[in-house]
Amino acid sequence: MLISCPECERKVSDRAKACPDCGFPVAEHVAEQAEAAARAARLASRERVGEIDCPTCDARGFTYFEAADDEGQTRQMFGWCEACKHSGRVHQCKDLGGYYAVSHAALDPFLRGELDAPAEGVAFVGTQLVAEHRYEQPGETWTEPDGGDPDDLGSRG
Ligand SMILES: [Zn+2]
Ligand SMILES: [Zn+2]
Repeated sequence: MLISCPECERKVSDRAKACPDCGFPVAEHVAEQAEAAARAARLASRERVGEIDCPTCDARGFTYFEAADDEGQTRQMFGWCEACKHSGRVHQCKDLGGYYAVSHAALDPFLRGELDAPAEGVAFVGTQLVAEHRYEQPGETWTEPDGGDPDDLGSRG
């Protein structure tokens, strides 16, 4: 196909490595544009399709970490998983590229196309819908109270 060279506007093949007139890397430019268009189409195709086990906590709803206690001893503690808000499940979304596990916080920016996997709270899970869950029922969604106290760990009633 003949296109106008983006640099000098002379007609040139879109497969030409370089424009014979000005040396502009035509083929590379065309490939980059095709890639950008494909990416834009992929981002625009995003939708939420359901839920998926939280990859951050492996569907348990909480995560372990080490922290110093009041006496300064390092201990293993646990905290509610923020990605799934303790429910053990996050959003499952899809686009033309496949399926993704998306945390509660990342859902809106992901759907708007502002985030791409891998990113904080976004994990690519494959090209097939994931319908299996580790636990039959999701846990109760837990939301951190206003200005939640990071020291208040594991005190669920
Ligand atoms: Zn040119
Ligand atoms: Zn989780």
